[in-house]
Amino acid sequence: MKSPVTQVLKNLHQRYASLHDGKVADYIPELAKVDPKLFGICIATRDGHLYEVGDTRHKFTIQSISKALSYGLALEDRGEDHVTSRIGVEPSGDAFNAISLKPGNGAPFNPMINAGAIATCGQVLKKDGQTRIDRIREYLSRCAIGQLDIDEDVYRSESQTGHRNRAIGWMLRNFDIIEEEPRDILETYFQQCSLRVNCADLAVMAATLANQGCNPVTGERAIAHEYVDNVLGVMASCGMYDWSGEWIYRVGLPAKSGVGGGILAVLPGQLGIGVFSPPLDDQGNSVRGIKVCMDLARELALHMFNPS
Ligand code: GLU
Repeated sequence: MKSPVTQVLKNLHQRYASLHDGKVADYIPELAKVDPKLFGICIATRDGHLYEVGDTRHKFTIQSISKALSYGLALEDRGEDHVTSRIGVEPSGDAFNAISLKPGNGAPFNPMINAGAIATCGQVLKKDGQTRIDRIREYLSRCAIGQLDIDEDVYRSESQTGHRNRAIGWMLRNFDIIEEEPRDILETYFQQCSLRVNCADLAVMAATLANQGCNPVTGERAIAHEYVDNVLGVMASCGMYDWSGEWIYRVGLPAKSGVGGGILAVLPGQLGIGVFSPPLDDQGNSVRGIKVCMDLARELALHMFNPS
């Protein structure tokens, strides 16, 4: 017998496959080459079971979704007090790439906007002969199904066009939020955004967060238990660009999206959701991804503030 969850996912896939609203990101030229028809939905449960429909094994770049997880690594490396004294946890109300820093100490508003994510990269330690990107790649891989690699074409494209992010990096240096030359940190940030994942990886990463930091597929501890709530907290308040308030109101799950078309959403203690569909709305969120998550939350009663 077919699982009822798979049937729900199939129905959703069918419902929205013909929706052609939105535009794929093109400000990073390499991203514009993606096929807008690609569409996958995956749910990973806390006990490691995957339900998947559509293009769930197609690789794409993680982009901003990486920001949530690298924040976990920075917290593990430096502790909460150190990190929160340099990077806030307040929604900014500005676009993800805004050159906005808090008046006074110049701290980025939160780790989910570019300024905060670049500062977060700077908090990750080089350790045991490993570079920052080695450590970030391994950390994210431990949350996923297998080893992640860098899409070198996207990385090159980001690095060649990332002047605005470089300006942000130098502003952070000016305020001593970054305590070294920002060049390497920016390259690390571009590489981190260019890590390749598939939709099933996103669901497993989300399920890892749902499972208090333990990857339910590999059984490995991926994120220190004590920082899972910090990561979920900023995802809940700041994870969906300038639609974060609407999202938590309507869907009710901590989540993070990226301009590659991925969305990762977490029902703590229960399951993780990954959706992949490249066309984006004006806020930078996947159009189909938002629709799927809104319907899933309603049909499976997932809204966190309405436990059934
Ligand atoms: N690498 C992208 C940038 O910094 C990430 C954007 C995103 O997914 O929001 O512009």
